[in-house]
Amino acid sequence: MLPHPGLSPFDYVRPATPDDVSHLLLEHGEAARLLMGGTDLLVRMRDGVMQPKVVVDVKHLPGMRALTLSRNAGGGGEGLTIGAAVTMNEVARHPAIREHYGLLAQAAESVASYQLRNRATLGGNLCNASPAADTAPAVLALEGQLVLLGTAGERVVPAGDFFLGPGQSCLQAGEFLTAIRLPPPPEKAAGAYLKLGRNRAGDLAIAGVAVLGFPDATAASGYRFRIALASVAPVPLRAEKAEQVLADAPPGEATFTQASAAAMQASSPIDDIRASAAYRRAMVRNLTLRALQRVWDRIEIKG
Ligand SMILES: Cc1cc2nc3c(=O)[nH]c(=O)nc-3n(C[C@H](O)[C@H](O)[C@H](O)COP(=O)(O)OP(=O)(O)OC[C@H]3O[C@@H](n4cnc5c(N)ncnc54)[C@H](O)[C@@H]3O)c2cc1C
Repeated sequence: MLPHPGLSPFDYVRPATPDDVSHLLLEHGEAARLLMGGTDLLVRMRDGVMQPKVVVDVKHLPGMRALTLSRNAGGGGEGLTIGAAVTMNEVARHPAIREHYGLLAQAAESVASYQLRNRATLGGNLCNASPAADTAPAVLALEGQLVLLGTAGERVVPAGDFFLGPGQSCLQAGEFLTAIRLPPPPEKAAGAYLKLGRNRAGDLAIAGVAVLGFPDATAASGYRFRIALASVAPVPLRAEKAEQVLADAPPGEATFTQASAAAMQASSPIDDIRASAAYRRAMVRNLTLRALQRVWDRIEIKG
């Protein structure tokens, strides 16, 4: 049997205001942990990996569960603001997200099981800062911004600057994530998130690839494709050289193959219990190729 220390004692706190959250975080430092769905935190506490003295629930605070889509999300306007405590199932099922930000809906739906997605939140997935976080590549490809609140007020950071390493983010002392902002998706954009796990019943990704493609007259090829990867580097990341290949050369099998090889080069995976580094690299190439072909088919249908 695995060692199972159980939960060590802690205080559960439900602060009345965001300001109270920041002050609690500053007061207790590493001994305080924020709680949203708890699907990461409580597992780590159960396993004795984390032993916070104070668990700070933030789900109820104003705006944390709100989902605001501007009317012009399909072209111009302000896009979408998702409260950090919106659950994966809410993201995956929301009709407007499915229509305008289908890539994010696909990524949310790929997380674990239906039951877990009822608790797991988008913000918790990002703040965990796991390289394997399934929604991170979609947020990167959609060029999302993260709204962080602390005692000095609010700051907004591009998703690409948020992840610093496995389990490490740019959150500073006293700060927490309140919302994720997505700009309006480019006109006629199509997206695909392809995830390879050890099973279909809710495993973390061995590799995950998000692709968002759209017509763009400023690119030599007439199109741009954004590619973001999960579980194949210390942080979720964009494959920028692969994106450049696709901006420069006309879409088609030869270009997609070249771009997939470039995406593979962007990865720097490790061997772990889920897969070897070599297998992961090969899967980045294969998943990227498949995702590019799928996205291109959808772009052609949209005309
Ligand atoms: C069985 C199982 C299967 C899983 N499968 C997947 C999977 O397929 N794909 C995947 O990506 N993940 C998976 N996970 C991991 C987990 O479910 C997700 O990362 C989930 O989205 C975490 O969200 P949460 O709301 O439960 O976060 P929580 O557990 O509440 O929090 C996660 C971490 O972020 C911190 N945090 C929470 N909220 C904030 C905030 N607002 N500001 C700053 N820090 C904050 C917490 O202190 C904690 O350290 C799985 C977990 C389990 C147990």
